[in-house]
Amino acid sequence: MHLPKYTIGVGDRFARQGAAQLDAIIRAGEAGVAVTPVWNKSHREHTIVGSTPGEVRTEADAAVAARGWNGPYFVDADHIGLQTVDGFIESSDFFTLDVADFIGAAPDETMLEKFVQRHRRCVGRLQAPGIDRALEVSEQTIQSAARKYLSAVHEAGEIYRHIERAKGAEQFATEVSMDETDEPQTPVELFFILAAVADEGIPAQTIAPRFTGRFNKGVDYVGDVSQFAKEFEQDLAVIALAVGEFGLPENLKLSVHSGSDKFSIYGAMRQALQKFDAGVHLKTAGTTWLEELIGLATAGGDGLAVAKEIYKIALGRFDELCTPYASVIDIDTAALPSGELVAGWNGPTFAAALRHDPSCEHYNPNFRQLLHVGYKVAAELGDRFLNALEEHADVVAENVSENIFQRHIRALFIGK
Ligand SMILES: [Zn+2]
Repeated sequence: MHLPKYTIGVGDRFARQGAAQLDAIIRAGEAGVAVTPVWNKSHREHTIVGSTPGEVRTEADAAVAARGWNGPYFVDADHIGLQTVDGFIESSDFFTLDVADFIGAAPDETMLEKFVQRHRRCVGRLQAPGIDRALEVSEQTIQSAARKYLSAVHEAGEIYRHIERAKGAEQFATEVSMDETDEPQTPVELFFILAAVADEGIPAQTIAPRFTGRFNKGVDYVGDVSQFAKEFEQDLAVIALAVGEFGLPENLKLSVHSGSDKFSIYGAMRQALQKFDAGVHLKTAGTTWLEELIGLATAGGDGLAVAKEIYKIALGRFDELCTPYASVIDIDTAALPSGELVAGWNGPTFAAALRHDPSCEHYNPNFRQLLHVGYKVAAELGDRFLNALEEHADVVAENVSENIFQRHIRALFIGK
């Protein structure tokens, strides 16, 4: 299955916003940019919410039918490994092979030796079109990249072949992800990771490296934007080079995880994508659930009451909720409002603290991040939360759609 140039992962924790998300994609088309929706949900999210992979397929198909969408769309088994993939085989046609845990595991020495031999011809200067300076490659560079990443890519090969046996080749799109790790991969490392991906025979159409800087959940990029821009361009150049060198799929592109809400880098990304005529996959997940909360708060009454209750409970269970996401959140606990204070807020105040509008003085990124990981609380409220969503479906949908179109698709693909 062929992944189009621009794809956006529209995660949806509670599987209620598929049509609202698709509305944003339809607006993109009307504005002249073809974006393909990918409904993604990880094993971790399914476990926390208590949902199953089949429900994501049902949601996607229903949204597509409701809006009469004729374009392509995918259902992504997000962040799966050999232990978790089986439950996703039937319902998914996009698989994100997460091998970050295998980074740094010692590779088989024969495999390593063969890899270095095979790629020794790359020693010297790697001149990728579109970047000013050549990337330096020594035999040591190849050795150390292989030591760090060969086991991880080999594991990706195992997972890929497992899925291929079950579904058949070309019946699904493959992503390899290495983003959930502490150390960023350099463009040169990415080049040799792609060499290994090709050696393993994985027809990867997208790859998610760990970029420089912090990609915290649901909030803006934290780091040096010009450094990120330079690295992003080098990654694009390296991918184009690797496609030619190693015979990887022509449409191979970068995947940006925790990609929602990264307003300060979308401009640089857009320019780089245009410069290299490259595609991208932008993964979002929790940003939609936060719009559900904003919608409920805005609706007032029982909607606002549910939103406040979720915050109060989340605050009391801070450690439990934050631990699984420790590497992708940064919360200043001193800047979190107390449950009592929030209890006194009206809808617009709650919404303003939560909505990702950095120019608004009431916006509180700490409040936002805690609620981002607080979806477990909403899941536990069960019907109370879901009925509130149902009751205020219109205002919630409007926020969901507006967020994906204006703050994400427009910012990344269209510009002003
Ligand atoms: Zn991810």
